[in-house]
Amino acid sequence: MTSFTLIDPTTGQAFRDVPRATLDDVDAAIARAVDAQRGWAALAPVARADALRAFARAVEDHVDELAALEVQNSGHPIGSARWEASHVAQVLNFSAGAPERLSGQQIPVAGGLDVTFHEPYGVVGIIVPWNFPMTIASWGFAPALAAGNAVVLKPAELTPLTAVRLGELALEAGLPAGLFQVITGSGSLVGQRFVTHPDVRKVVFTGSTEVGVEVAAGCARGLKPVTLELGGKSANIVFADADLEKAAAAAPGAVFDNAGQDCCARSRILVQRSVYDRFLELLEPAVTAWRVGDPSRDDTDMGPLISSAHRDTVASFLDGADIAFRGSAPDGDGWWFAPTVVLAQPEDRIAREEVFGPVVAVMPFDDEADAIRLANDTIYGLAGSLWTENLGRAVRVARGVKSGVLSVNSHASVRYWTPFGGMKASGLGRELGPDAAEHFTETKNVFFATDA
Ligand code: NAP
Ligand code: MG
Repeated sequence: MTSFTLIDPTTGQAFRDVPRATLDDVDAAIARAVDAQRGWAALAPVARADALRAFARAVEDHVDELAALEVQNSGHPIGSARWEASHVAQVLNFSAGAPERLSGQQIPVAGGLDVTFHEPYGVVGIIVPWNFPMTIASWGFAPALAAGNAVVLKPAELTPLTAVRLGELALEAGLPAGLFQVITGSGSLVGQRFVTHPDVRKVVFTGSTEVGVEVAAGCARGLKPVTLELGGKSANIVFADADLEKAAAAAPGAVFDNAGQDCCARSRILVQRSVYDRFLELLEPAVTAWRVGDPSRDDTDMGPLISSAHRDTVASFLDGADIAFRGSAPDGDGWWFAPTVVLAQPEDRIAREEVFGPVVAVMPFDDEADAIRLANDTIYGLAGSLWTENLGRAVRVARGVKSGVLSVNSHASVRYWTPFGGMKASGLGRELGPDAAEHFTETKNVFFATDA
């Protein structure tokens, strides 16, 4: 098959065919990227910065169009989709500050001058999933370009449209042809070729831990660095001394946003036993008030799941589960799933595996040590939240939970100027933050002898 068909998850209807790249297509794109990268890296830093700012402006001018594409292709609520498109522009603007700030060091040595350079890798391959198609792509391509690399980007087969449009906008904004190419097709062909092609010198992968391990193994054979953003089973820890009303009101957004299809989803709520019943009483109205429905409406909190197959997977987690209460969802066409709160034990499947859907497991704990132990009782370590009014406890628990991204009395995980990434099976390396562009460079040390 030379193309694949996209399905609107809100209606279940096919709406567009997208070409599937062949191996020759991928190799030709990588060859163009090699050429384009040489010229790009040779530009003055300010010229690369200006080009990225022009790209950012083009994205800003097309926020509504990009958002509408994401509503149709991914079922994201329009408010979220607009935020995502604006975020891409912000990541580009932030990255545009990097070319002039990628300073090396001058290191004291005898008999000469020693300096370091942050050299771009060359061509960077970026493989992204379907859950946040534009934002996750931008976390890779914007800093990679800023550091002087060319980028080949493979969107998920389910959700390629915004990535393809971003590729067009880059060209319209004046980025050189071949510098940023979006290649649609299957992971096993296009994604794997990024891993095996000798001219792709770094790979960034976001998706399942299972595929991430294979990508890392392939990159090891080619001795190429890899950044991995993988799954999660993050804990939302609610202590008895927390502002319970606030914690309960915020909990649905922390796990049901994007229909739970979020690697940072706080899909385990750990509640101190003494306030367990009270917390559930407060959580129920917050869950039933969560508005699930037409993603083109401004007041919608949550749209459908991404696909029929994914809905089956999510539903399978409710087999034998002790359901406390559920929100509502439209019936009829589309891949709808009502937000669901499950009472669980630490050894239950629902408490251990990533659901990637709007299902949360609630479990009691006894004291601070028990909370940390339970929070860490997972192969994952991406995100997490803790709610307490006790400052010392907040510091101790934040240091004790093995996760890359934590928030106290908040669920905020993603800011383009702070580092993001996971520990344990949640990943390798960090994206975003002050060092984002530097992660797309390797250090060269040069010694200049000054002996006459
Ligand atoms: P996935 O299979 O890991 O796919 C992620 C990306 O990798 C897609 O672009 C995919 O392409 C590509 N890919 C697949 N096989 C590949 C291979 N052998 N070599 C290189 N690239 C390859 O994830 P998924 O199937 O979309 O989702 C499965 C589960 O992963 C979810 O249910 C969730 O638990 C987890 N997940 C986590 C995140 C996250 O943000 N950490 C995101 C998405 C999913 P195709 O789309 O063409 O297959
Ligand atoms: Mg897959």
